[in-house]
Amino acid sequence: LPVVAVVGRPNVGKSSLVNRILGRREAVVQDLPGITRDRVSYPAEWSGQRFTLVDTGGWEQDVAGLEARVAAQAEVAVEAADVVVLVVDATVGATGTDEAVVRLLRRSGKPVVLAANKVDDQRGEADAATLWSLGLGEPHPVSSVHGRGSGDLLDAVLAAVPEELQAARERPSGMRRVALLGRPNVGKSSMLNKLTGSDRVVVDATAGTTRDPVDEVVELAGREWVFVDTAGIRRRVHQSSGADFYASLRTQAALEKAEVAVVLVDGSETLTEQDTRIISTVVEAGRALVLAVNKWDLVDEERRYYLERELERDLVQVRWAPRVNVSARTGRHLERLVPALDVALDSWGTRVPTGRLNSFLGQVVAEHPHPVRGGKQPRILFGTQPSTQPPRFVVFASGFLEAGYRRFLERRLREEFGFEGSPVELSVRVRE
Ligand code: GDP
Repeated sequence: LPVVAVVGRPNVGKSSLVNRILGRREAVVQDLPGITRDRVSYPAEWSGQRFTLVDTGGWEQDVAGLEARVAAQAEVAVEAADVVVLVVDATVGATGTDEAVVRLLRRSGKPVVLAANKVDDQRGEADAATLWSLGLGEPHPVSSVHGRGSGDLLDAVLAAVPEELQAARERPSGMRRVALLGRPNVGKSSMLNKLTGSDRVVVDATAGTTRDPVDEVVELAGREWVFVDTAGIRRRVHQSSGADFYASLRTQAALEKAEVAVVLVDGSETLTEQDTRIISTVVEAGRALVLAVNKWDLVDEERRYYLERELERDLVQVRWAPRVNVSARTGRHLERLVPALDVALDSWGTRVPTGRLNSFLGQVVAEHPHPVRGGKQPRILFGTQPSTQPPRFVVFASGFLEAGYRRFLERRLREEFGFEGSPVELSVRVRE
């Protein structure tokens, strides 16, 4: 999906514009402290065109130095975006900071749509007109508080989406799309360099495929793989403060385009919350997952003892992910990456025939029926798998199934059909 990023200096009304575009649904969610702090991209739709909306508003508190932080925010957002919406406060007019951002945006070559915010009435239109001076073309007057003008703005945004992204994106035939993820310094760029070796990068775009310039085609085990968003790995931007937000934005933007994620963790150090958060993001995005424990050359016997316990404790939720112990420095076991990717992608695309699924469900339920609750026992009526990538199952039952029983079903599904390396979704519908 096309990625639309909303940038601008603090207090120009970015977040209210984002909420307006999302129909306010997400606004409520955003108020819950601690829960959505890292959530920066949202699914959105206008005129039947779906896109991913990136909100850079939440980044502001963390970082010091107005100009630097706005520039950093814009730079990262722009890297991930297909279209940038620059929000300017029309009641204030163009400031020096706005102008600095415009220079940066212009260098990026990405299409920019200028939103002149806080134009609450007819009189404000004149204020908006002064923003022609920014040289970004027509300022689109909006009032994100009152909703005025946001439809016209969205029309302009969608018109600016590059043509090849407007139609449903064709999957390049044969090439699988991989996101290389991990917190700073786990060795992503080292691994990418080791995997590519400069001569192995295929420079020409293969005919009939669309890929962003930030993606790289890498030949591994005799096949071509697209590593998405490698620009963010190769060139680091502003990793001092607020780095979590940038990392989180990158992770989400890359996952949007990838089928499978390789998450690197640093085997020589204690696992961190950021590691587990990245892994959760992959699972929530419904992408296949391979875990790479890097810097294995630094893991001695004692460290290994603790590492195994940390992995066991912190990564129970992804016990199903294939794991490779590698060293990007020495190249150790990097050849195991491709088999792990293949396993994960196979699982991710698996479809269980309905007949097989139901005979399996019948057997499981007979062996281990749902406990009786309040004199009633919900019966499982039928199961189906409406989609793959990742496998999604729907189970119809005569009553509510408790969480423990759902987990049991998911565990048995995994035991029966594999799904190594892929999240599995299971939902229950109650039929009277
Ligand atoms: P990134 O931020 O995830 O891209 O991490 P880098 O690739 O820049 O690596 C961070 C640091 O870890 C650098 O000093 C690397 O040389 C080092 N490093 C990366 N992989 C390994 C490895 O497998 N073993 C050792 N010993 N060091 C590594």
